[in-house]
Amino acid sequence: MTSADQSTPLPVSLNRRIVDHNAIRRNIARIRDVSGVKLMAVVKADAFGHGAVDVARTALSAGAQWLGVATIEEALELRSAGIVAPILAWLIDPRCALDVGVRNNIALSCLNVETLRAVAEAAVRVGATAEVQLELDTGMARGGAAPDVWHELCLAAAEAEQAGTVRVTGVWSHLANATNPSPSSVEDAVTDFERGVGVALDAGLQPAERHLANSAAALEHPATFGTMVRCAASIYGIETVVGRNHELEYATRLTSRVIQLRKVPAGTGVGYGHAYVTPHETTLALVPIGYADGVPRLLGGKGEVVIGGARLPIVGTISMDQLVLDVGTATVRLGDEVVLLGRKADGEPDPAEWADLVGVFPHDVLTSFSTRVERTAVNLT
Ligand SMILES: *Cc1c(COP(=O)(O)O)cnc(C)c1O
Repeated sequence: MTSADQSTPLPVSLNRRIVDHNAIRRNIARIRDVSGVKLMAVVKADAFGHGAVDVARTALSAGAQWLGVATIEEALELRSAGIVAPILAWLIDPRCALDVGVRNNIALSCLNVETLRAVAEAAVRVGATAEVQLELDTGMARGGAAPDVWHELCLAAAEAEQAGTVRVTGVWSHLANATNPSPSSVEDAVTDFERGVGVALDAGLQPAERHLANSAAALEHPATFGTMVRCAASIYGIETVVGRNHELEYATRLTSRVIQLRKVPAGTGVGYGHAYVTPHETTLALVPIGYADGVPRLLGGKGEVVIGGARLPIVGTISMDQLVLDVGTATVRLGDEVVLLGRKADGEPDPAEWADLVGVFPHDVLTSFSTRVERTAVNLT
């Protein structure tokens, strides 16, 4: 690398995750075009590692009305950044600090009467009405009230509304099988959900929002839409529907640099355990990124990177902090940019390619980068 231009500061980190907010904006536009209802942009897990506050702002400017997160802590990060849009947090437990959630006007999801009561008590302490949404299980057997206790939960919520401690602004559920091309389990969930909404109305609740659809359903199953779809994966470019392409774009680009080049003879064992032995004389390139940065260790011997337009193999075992490429006869110079993740359309590996090679979801790839990788947002509003 050269530093001839003294006015250009040298980078502190060689490893960069570039988050393109134009891609996020285009993905949101696609989801909104297809679904035509309100969008809750789910920014849990630091927006799949893209930066929750940045993505929340982009999503809201692109037309999302709600933000969704798993925990109160995640919601507070958004509020601390000055975001005033409605936020739903769904992993709420009576043993969490609920007062701060109520005080910050976060809609708290309740999946049982115990949680609802705890939220109501927090509201009394804070001296405010707590916003609540009720979660029904429609066949996932994960979170949510089972159908047989749903009635009881709705009645308790109606009572709390009467007492002025809570206001129920939504009823929601999550789909177990939206990515499955066979829609029958989605239809069953829709039937259960509609029955659950009916029970809520009969109990005297008037939930303004009814939402069931995740990304896959928002793009494929109009019967699930309700008043709002609740999307994460699709916003980040993940195609969640098996065998379908909705022209979503990944927003993450991961780059590093070549920091060493060396010529080695045939028969050179490379890295831990000599898992790779050079078949002929070649050049090896060292890249200072490894599994502790979020490059799956299992990509060793399978994955490829792009340097100057050429695909080059990652060879040997990936170390915690570094990996090695066999550059063969390709022209590679010290300091060259190494594209680890980029655009499939440009011949670069993308998160789906990594996921297929190592047997995980693209979700795992996007959420696994460590803070050691410097994140840079581009095309922010
Ligand atoms: C993560 C999550 C979503 C988003 O699901 P995608 O398939 O990523 O769109 C929606 N709702 C809940 C409850 C979630 O946990």
